[in-house]
Amino acid sequence: MEFCPECGAMLLPKDGILKCNSCNYVKDLSDNDEYKLDGELNESDNVKMLGEDVDMRSTIKETCPECGHDEAYYELKQTRSADEAPTRIFTCAKCKHTWRAYH
Ligand SMILES: [Zn+2]
Ligand SMILES: [Zn+2]
Repeated sequence: MEFCPECGAMLLPKDGILKCNSCNYVKDLSDNDEYKLDGELNESDNVKMLGEDVDMRSTIKETCPECGHDEAYYELKQTRSADEAPTRIFTCAKCKHTWRAYH
């Protein structure tokens, strides 16, 4: 049993809402505040997770020497000396084998 927060009269259920007969206050039963709060908490958790662990590496057509798969992640790492060519690091998209190329 629910009572009107405005005037204290009994609320009558009607078509999914509770309606006060004396002051026309209406409570929508499908609009549950508790569920709304839970949804907001979950959303903020998801936003936090999106900021982490984003793989920005691009893939390249390169044959894995370990399993023969022809797609690998590609990274460039500059070595200590700027005169040297940057090291290319490949990671197999299939078996995660990692190898380097110095040319
Ligand atoms: Zn009322
Ligand atoms: Zn592989």
